[in-house]
Amino acid sequence: MIPKIKSTMKSFKFLFVLVPSLAMLLLICTGSLAQKIQHQEWLEYHVSWNGSSNTIGVDLIYDCNNQDTTVFYFGSINPGGQTEIFDILHSVTAVSGDSIALSPSQRKITVYHQTHGIKKLHYNIDGSLIVNPLRARPNEAFRPVIKSGSLYLIGSNLFLETNSFAYKRLTIVWDIWPQNVAYFISNNPLSRPDVQQEIDVHNKEQILIYFGTDLIIKKYKVFDTPYYAITSKRDSTNMQNELMPFLQRFFPSTREFWRDYKAGYYFVSLIPLWNKMASTSTGYSVDGGFSMKYSGPFDFQKRMVLAHETSHHWISGELHFKSVGMEYNWFHEGFNDYIAVYNLARSKMLSNAEFEQYLNDANLKPHYNSPVNELAADSIESKFWTNVYYERLSYQRGFIYAFYFDNQIRLATQGKKNIRDFLVVLFERHKKSKEINITQDLFVEVASQFLPASNIRKEINENLLKGKLLDFKNIRLEKMFKVTINNHIPDIRLIENADLKQFYDWKN
Ligand SMILES: [Zn+2]
Repeated sequence: MIPKIKSTMKSFKFLFVLVPSLAMLLLICTGSLAQKIQHQEWLEYHVSWNGSSNTIGVDLIYDCNNQDTTVFYFGSINPGGQTEIFDILHSVTAVSGDSIALSPSQRKITVYHQTHGIKKLHYNIDGSLIVNPLRARPNEAFRPVIKSGSLYLIGSNLFLETNSFAYKRLTIVWDIWPQNVAYFISNNPLSRPDVQQEIDVHNKEQILIYFGTDLIIKKYKVFDTPYYAITSKRDSTNMQNELMPFLQRFFPSTREFWRDYKAGYYFVSLIPLWNKMASTSTGYSVDGGFSMKYSGPFDFQKRMVLAHETSHHWISGELHFKSVGMEYNWFHEGFNDYIAVYNLARSKMLSNAEFEQYLNDANLKPHYNSPVNELAADSIESKFWTNVYYERLSYQRGFIYAFYFDNQIRLATQGKKNIRDFLVVLFERHKKSKEINITQDLFVEVASQFLPASNIRKEINENLLKGKLLDFKNIRLEKMFKVTINNHIPDIRLIENADLKQFYDWKN
C-alpha cells in the first residue's frame, strides 16, 4: 500500500503552526467543510496512518478559549472492562511552549497554556493486536485493532473527552491514509478518508471506522433505505451470502413490523476476530448500525445475536423507558429478544426445533432454575457483572413475559390481534407525544386496548419489577403450545406441524 497524503491539509498545517491568523484565512479559502470551523466550539481531529504500522497519529486542533488549562480524557473503561486503555496512548505533545501532565490512573491529559488561542495536541494510538483468546471479545470490540492493511477504531478510542462544555462539535479527516484500501466510517457510509466529517461531540462514541484490504462493502436496499453489509475476505464462508436472508426477509420484516420505512441508512458488519478461538461472537451497536466480531460458523446463536441487536433500533432505541438503572431491561432486552424471534419466525429463518430450543433452553429452563430469578428489577444493575444469572435475568424475565403477554392478547381478541398490534400503537403514540422516554402509564394505557389495565399494572409491578415468577400451571396459552411442568420448570412445546410463520404474522 502506498500511503496517500492529503497535500492541502499538510500545507495548511505547516502554515498553521507558523502563522495562525494566515492559517485561518487559508482555512476559509479551501472551500471545503473546513471553512465552517469555529474553533471556540469545535475540536478538529487530523488522523494519519501509513497502512502498515500498528500506530496512528492524531493532531487535535482546538481553541483553549482563554483558559489557562485544558483537561482531556482518553479512552473508556466501559464497555469491555478496559482498565489499561490509557497505556495505548503515546507521544502526547503540545505545541508552542504549552506543557502537559499525564495522569494515567485517571486517563487524564492536562495542558497548561502559556498563551491563549488556537492549540494543537498530538498523540499516537498503538492499536497492536493483543493475542489472548480469553479477552479477545472485549479487546477486539472495544480497543483499536491496527495491523498492516487493517484498522478498526471506535470513537471512544480516538476522540478525547474534555472538561469543557464549550466544544459542541468535532471534525475528523485523514491527512495520511493507505490508498486502494476499503474504508468505512459509520456516520457517513459513502464518505472517503479525505472528506472531513462533522460530528456532534455527544455522538462521538457512536463512530466506528474501518480500513481493510480484506473488507467487502456492499450496498443493498431494504424498501428505500440503503443497507450496507461489511464482511471480510478472511472468512472461510461467503458471509455476504449468509446475510442474504437478513437483507431479503428479516430486515424488511422488522420495518413492516413497526411500519417504519424511513431511515437514512443502516449497516451491519460481520468481521472475524483475529485471535484464533472456538466459535463465539461479540457485538457493538452504534447509531446507524451494528458491528459483530466473531469466530466459527454463522450458526443460530450468531443469527440470533444479529437479529436481537438490529431489532434494538426500535425497542430500547426508539422506545426507551425512563429508568435509573436496569429496572426496565425486561422491556429493553426481553421484549426486544422476543420481537427478534417473532421476525425471524415470520421470515422463515427459525425452525420449529430452534424455536423450542430458544424458548426452553435459553429462557424457561435457565430462568426457572436460576437462584436469583425473583430478584427485584431495581437490584439487578449493581450485581449485573458478578455472574451470568444476573446478566441474563432481565432478558429471560422479559422474553418469557412477552411470550405470555402475546398469548393473552391473542386469546382475548380471538386471534385478531397480537403483541405487534400493541407495539405498533405504543410506537405511534410515543412518536406523537414528542417525549424522549416512554412511561409505565403509556404502556398500560396502550395495553388496555387489548387487555384489562388492572391486570397489566399488577403484572408489571409483581412479575416484572418485583420479580415474581409467572405460574404456567394456571396460564392459558394459544392452542399451538403444550405446557408441562417438570419440577416447577415449565416446558413448552409446539404442537405437531405448528406453522410458526403463520403464527408470527399479522392480519393488517
Ligand atoms: Zn440487547
